[in-house]
Amino acid sequence: MTKADVVIVGGGAVGSSAAYFLAAESGFGGSVVVVERDQTYARASTPLSVGGIRQQFSIRENVEIGLFARDFIGRIGNLLAVDDEAPDVGFVEGGYLFLASEEGRAILAENHAVQTQAGAAIAWLEPDALAQRFPWMNVEGLAAGTLGERGEGWIDPNTLLQALKRKARSLGAEYRTDEVVGIERGVTGVEAVRLASGDRIECGTVLIAAGAGSGAVAGMAGVDLPVGPRIRTVYQIACRETLAPRLPLTIDASGVYVRPEGVGYLCGVSPPEDQDPETWEIEVDWRWFEETVWPSLAHRIPAFEAIKLTGAWAGPYDYNALDQNAVIGRHPTIGNLLFATGFSGHGLQQSPAAGRAIMELITHNGFRSIDLTRFGIERILEGRPLKERNVV
Ligand SMILES: Cc1cc2nc3c(=O)[nH]c(=O)nc-3n(C[C@H](O)[C@H](O)[C@H](O)COP(=O)(O)OP(=O)(O)OC[C@H]3O[C@@H](n4cnc5c(N)ncnc54)[C@H](O)[C@@H]3O)c2cc1C
Repeated sequence: MTKADVVIVGGGAVGSSAAYFLAAESGFGGSVVVVERDQTYARASTPLSVGGIRQQFSIRENVEIGLFARDFIGRIGNLLAVDDEAPDVGFVEGGYLFLASEEGRAILAENHAVQTQAGAAIAWLEPDALAQRFPWMNVEGLAAGTLGERGEGWIDPNTLLQALKRKARSLGAEYRTDEVVGIERGVTGVEAVRLASGDRIECGTVLIAAGAGSGAVAGMAGVDLPVGPRIRTVYQIACRETLAPRLPLTIDASGVYVRPEGVGYLCGVSPPEDQDPETWEIEVDWRWFEETVWPSLAHRIPAFEAIKLTGAWAGPYDYNALDQNAVIGRHPTIGNLLFATGFSGHGLQQSPAAGRAIMELITHNGFRSIDLTRFGIERILEGRPLKERNVV
């Protein structure tokens, strides 16, 4: 039997970020144990993600979270250095480009207002400006686009994860390879977690940061949390023609996204909700490439009519079925049970802000930087969605 002030269930980007921010906080001073069932992260979301960082969201908090991600990534070499070794997450500041048809133009404008009011550097582009800026683009059917001028792009997700983890460990956080299989509750709250090895850890606080497994872990504490795995395929393609200027991470009006990766590109699409079952069968779905991804790309970027599919992988979105938004906060009645999960495809970039928010709740009993009150689990328990429109 062991004791810890804070037990974090899940050592992906989010759990590791929380471990780092707690261990680095002088006002905390407690012990942190991160329980991670698979240190290879073979089925975790983090290393399988596309690594995008953006401020182009529809909800103000998500824009602010994206601004913090930009700042954090900009200072990551200093913040997460261990023994003078500074991590390099390979940030490519390539921007995000959201494209809208006539139907989506008003919503794009509303989102753009939220983003710029929060301080994000996002340009509004009419179709002729789009055609001028990106001569390789077919602007037919487009009514506008928004482009991140600064602070948006992509990183290597696994380097971020390993850097957070290494730093957290160097500051005293302990990582245990084990699986949480039970959460014991007493009168006042959670008392301990039980592990597959038979061990038990008594704890002051439990944070559920188990990615797509969070719904199952919350169930162990008797909490109904609609967060589970939805599989997304990422396709790798090559194109003989070079696009100049470089393609930003582009989200077409059809929902298909594409971004450069080395000399090739990554692309994909989220399936319609009625064809998006919750499952842990992590398999590449070739159908979407032929039926949706390639036709949309070839229409928008005629050079992509002649592409070669060079590979693909699949990974689980940590999908919040209520509103595709993060759940960050304390349980209202089980006061020492916290959540940082349900990021629904944008949790890599939200991991720094989520980790900091959890540190603030545990150390100061309230948010000190970004007010994430609206992200609390109360809205889930009461069935009040806080819908994020820009889920890719
Ligand atoms: C294809 C794809 C593309 C994506 N693209 C982007 C993107 O461009 N930008 C972006 O910001 N986000 C993106 N995401 C989403 C992002 O990857 C996730 O939101 C984020 O990584 C979530 O981090 P996490 O630490 O919560 O979850 P995970 O990385 O899944 O980590 C959770 C960990 O919990 C562990 N765990 C679960 N249950 C237990 C248990 N009972 N006991 C012990 N351990 C347990 C798991 O083993 C896992 O390692 C993408 C995801 C996918 C799949």
